Amino acid sequence: MTAADSHPCDFCGATPAIKTFFVGLTGMVLLRKLQTTRGYFCRDCGDAAARKANSITARRGWWSISGWAGAPVYLMANSIRAGKVRKLPEPVRPGRTG
Ligand SMILES: [Zn+2]
Repeated sequence: MTAADSHPCDFCGATPAIKTFFVGLTGMVLLRKLQTTRGYFCRDCGDAAARKANSITARRGWWSISGWAGAPVYLMANSIRAGKVRKLPEPVRPGRTG
C-alpha cells in the first residue's frame, strides 16, 4: 500500500478509493456543457457518479451537433472508468464496522 492507495473517498471517506473522473454531457443545439466530477471514489460512490454522469449524457447529450458525435464517446469512457471502480473491494468507512 502506498500513500496514494490509502487516500480515502472524497465523498464518504471510505477506503480503498481510486482517483478518476466522470463526465456528463449536456447538448444545447450548438453548444455543449460538460459536468465533470473528479476526485477519489470508493466503489459505491464511483458507481453512483458513473450512473449519474451517464444518465445526464443519455438523456441530454444528444441535443447538439457536437453531442451526436461526443455522447457515445463519453458514455463509453465513463463505463470504462466505472469498471475500474467496480473492481475495488467493498468500501470500509471509518467509525463503522461491518
Ligand atoms: Zn465513497
